[in-house]
Amino acid sequence: MRVNLGADTPETDVRRALTTGDMGFLHSFTTGSRVDGPGVRVVGWTTGCHWRCLYCHNPDTWNMSNGIPVTLARATEQLRKYRHGLKIMSGGFTLSGGEPLMQDRFAVKLFTAAKAMGIHTALDTNGSLGNRLTDAELEQIDLVLLDIKMWDPERHRQLTGMDNAPVLDFARRLAERRRPIWIRFVLVPGLSDDVENIANIARFSASLGNVKRVDVLPFHQLGRFKWKELKLNYTLNDVQPPSIEAVESACAHFRSQGLKAF
Ligand code: SF4
Repeated sequence: MRVNLGADTPETDVRRALTTGDMGFLHSFTTGSRVDGPGVRVVGWTTGCHWRCLYCHNPDTWNMSNGIPVTLARATEQLRKYRHGLKIMSGGFTLSGGEPLMQDRFAVKLFTAAKAMGIHTALDTNGSLGNRLTDAELEQIDLVLLDIKMWDPERHRQLTGMDNAPVLDFARRLAERRRPIWIRFVLVPGLSDDVENIANIARFSASLGNVKRVDVLPFHQLGRFKWKELKLNYTLNDVQPPSIEAVESACAHFRSQGLKAF
């Protein structure tokens, strides 16, 4: 687990980085991902997230100081190495996290640099900070992987600690701008798997008109050890992953609204 990798970075440098976007804080870079957007992808994992989802499997990305400071130039150079391969494999670059828009200036600059190299770009986001991006900046993002975690506002607050109104507003704005979305929905037995929740999210997703696909992500316990090591209070110890049938049933709700769901 990676923690405190950026702890030595002076506070003024952190602030300057966030303002200019000339430096970002990354937990890691992975190559060869097939699950973070179309084709084969390079994924940059940012640190910093202001949500506290009960099922988060990356709580080590919550604090920005757990990331390695990386200059925009260096990150761009890394992407340049892969640009031909990514094109051949119909892939691209995805920025995930953490919440990438905690570092919105860095994200925009990196996406712009990737686009200039002809690389397909995707943002994996909880959607709450979408209003940090201008309409012109949205054009630098070919695909938004948008988490919709819970429909009911109060239950959403219990699950994430935050309001879901900005998420839904961002989804509507992306629809108005005709920017493609893949919805991501985490299926957690006893928490998010009731029919009412799924049906509401499915109806909303279908109403947008720009949702190209829905990924139903089965809850898992792979991040549990991180909560323990970070001495955080993990409340889902007894929750089992959903059955294949439950995942298929959730997919069926989305499909019944005319969406592609996997
Ligand atoms: S939004 Fe993502 S990174 Fe942030 S707490 Fe939730 S699951 Fe974790």
